[in-house]
Amino acid sequence: MNDKNFFLENYNDIVEKINSIKQNALKRKVNYREEQLNRPISFWTKKERLRDKIGKEFTIILRSKGCSWALSKYGGCSMCGYYLDATTKNVSTSQLISQFDYAFNDKINEIKQDSYNYILKIFNSGSFLDENEIPKEARNYIYEKISMVEKIKEVVIESRLEYITSEKLREIREIFNKKYLEIAIGLESVDDYIRNNFINKGVLFKDFKSALNKCKELDIGVKVYLLFKPLFLNEQAAIDDCSYSIKTLIDLGVNSISINPTNIQKGTLAEHLWFQNRYRPPWYYSLFKCIKKSVSQEDLKSIRLLSDPSGAGTKRGIHNCLKKECEISAKERLRNFVLSQNLNELEQKEYECVCKKKYQLQKNYI
Ligand code: SF4
Ligand SMILES: [Zn+2]
Repeated sequence: MNDKNFFLENYNDIVEKINSIKQNALKRKVNYREEQLNRPISFWTKKERLRDKIGKEFTIILRSKGCSWALSKYGGCSMCGYYLDATTKNVSTSQLISQFDYAFNDKINEIKQDSYNYILKIFNSGSFLDENEIPKEARNYIYEKISMVEKIKEVVIESRLEYITSEKLREIREIFNKKYLEIAIGLESVDDYIRNNFINKGVLFKDFKSALNKCKELDIGVKVYLLFKPLFLNEQAAIDDCSYSIKTLIDLGVNSISINPTNIQKGTLAEHLWFQNRYRPPWYYSLFKCIKKSVSQEDLKSIRLLSDPSGAGTKRGIHNCLKKECEISAKERLRNFVLSQNLNELEQKEYECVCKKKYQLQKNYI
């Protein structure tokens, strides 16, 4: 059997498995009531690293029809359970606008009166630039409203590569002529094999590079999400994959990298393997090791390295031994590093826990 056949055979298996897990999970999904379609999934403000100093984020997660990749016959990514948040029915433009307004009106006074500057992150558990998820009219309404808020200095939207066109980028660039813009792209790894066979992302690195160039031409920044420890990698392999990805992206001149340690979301292949003890979310020790070996303080003058792990310190998220002191110590060191972008924060004395020995013995096997 040659490599190509081996790759295809396994690829079909993974898609079939993802789809069968999804079909089961969808049977238990409750449909949203009409009034829920006029409210976002969630929104919040909290401290965040802006480009040059500490500020705050205002994040809004809109409830949309769902990610087109997850709705396609390819089933979506192996760790992603966002499809359970989506409506799977169409959400009208006016409902999307009501969702945005609900969050915006709730927070706008707080933002205007705050001494911090803000970064607005607007997400929809899919692609903001996908016409089927967020129609142009809704996008433009949102852009116009944000553009009028002085305190919001940076804006980030997320999109899969296939929806990033020069035309759509130009639209945003024109409206936000005074704000710093970033398009966040879930590349997960620079390795095509890992990304497409283990994560089932359906994205090629060469297409990422072409989207990056389109953004650069219009002076729009690019933020890349890297998945830390995709399924089927052990701790050491995860460190190597993520470290190589970070170095490659720095050389390419991306503006921000956000490392997302895999967390176990409901209704995913990740959850299926985790239930069978065939996958463990990463250890904090691995993440720190990876960051320290991949970036220098000099690199951090031109790139922002972020990580705000979901489910951190719990068995479904990145964790060490789950002992309270051990988790809190790791969580704080990561948070302080992200806010300050100072690598010394990762060198701060850690809580000396017996689990480190266990980790070192196991990191090539789990
Ligand atoms: S990770 Fe992103 S691209 Fe993949 S299925 Fe989820 S929302 Fe879609
Ligand atoms: Zn511990």
